[in-house]
Amino acid sequence: MPIDSFVPMAAGEMVPDVADPGHRTPNYFGGGALDRAADRRGDRDWVESMREAEDARVVPVWRSRSLVFGEGTLFEPVLLSPAVARTHSPNAEEWVFLGLDRVGPVFAAEVGDAHAESAPFTELGEFHDLHRVGAMLGRSEGSLLAYARAVITWSGRHRYCGCCGHVTRPAEGGHVRRCQNETCETDHFPRTDPAIIVLVADGDRCLLGRKEIWPDGVYSTLAGFVEPGESLSEAVIREVREEAGIEVGDVRYRSSQPWPFPSSLMLGFHAKRIGGNLHLDGQELADARWFHRDDFLRRKEIGLKLPSRVSIARRLIQDWLGTD
Ligand SMILES: [Zn+2]
Repeated sequence: MPIDSFVPMAAGEMVPDVADPGHRTPNYFGGGALDRAADRRGDRDWVESMREAEDARVVPVWRSRSLVFGEGTLFEPVLLSPAVARTHSPNAEEWVFLGLDRVGPVFAAEVGDAHAESAPFTELGEFHDLHRVGAMLGRSEGSLLAYARAVITWSGRHRYCGCCGHVTRPAEGGHVRRCQNETCETDHFPRTDPAIIVLVADGDRCLLGRKEIWPDGVYSTLAGFVEPGESLSEAVIREVREEAGIEVGDVRYRSSQPWPFPSSLMLGFHAKRIGGNLHLDGQELADARWFHRDDFLRRKEIGLKLPSRVSIARRLIQDWLGTD
């Protein structure tokens, strides 16, 4: 965007989560109850003693899936003792220290053969994609599994240094991967990729779009990754303009959500239409429409389906409707 077309936003666009009465309950995958004890991760001996502790537990991750048990609509995570975890994750140095809960230290470990068709620990539960079972877990349990999934996925993808290609090893309880080449020694940190997601309102209507691959009738808020050199407001303005041809202002932060598929942080906004007419770019969206408030009351009748309950998109819609 040329600098002379930059549109400054209204002051006060960033509102802290706690100031917003619309989300007393954390979004799914937020609301973690762990003490991350980040200040102690650098103490190798302490991390080692935590790994050996009798009350230590390990969150297993297999092929990016999480081990849960339960039935119907209620699931619980399965946590392993270190001895059991070692049977399918023998190199405990690769375990990532997640933090301390009321019982003791908690680690995450990649278990089993990532290329094998059959999962380990099937006698204890089933490995599921967190995306599918997230709504059936408590907030803190979902947050724990999201944290474990994100950090294990990152760690597994950074076994080699991006600067020199040498092997990396975990440091800081697994929250850093350090290049083992003495002339490099670059530290690599877990990725968190910011993505904006926005409900655009125009009076009593809001703008929702859908992608071709989604189930019939599902419409959701617009979203996209923040690009380098871009503020959050600028990303919101650009994405809505690119995808739908609408100019927005009054960009207001609502809430955020860890989205470990594989490493996003969703930053949720409300914004208002200030110009432009609906025009699809023909790439991102298969369709986009303005929906009136009343359309949500009669959504069965008109065949409108909302995004999944676990998504911040659903939350942004509910916030706008005032039905949270
Ligand atoms: Zn290196």
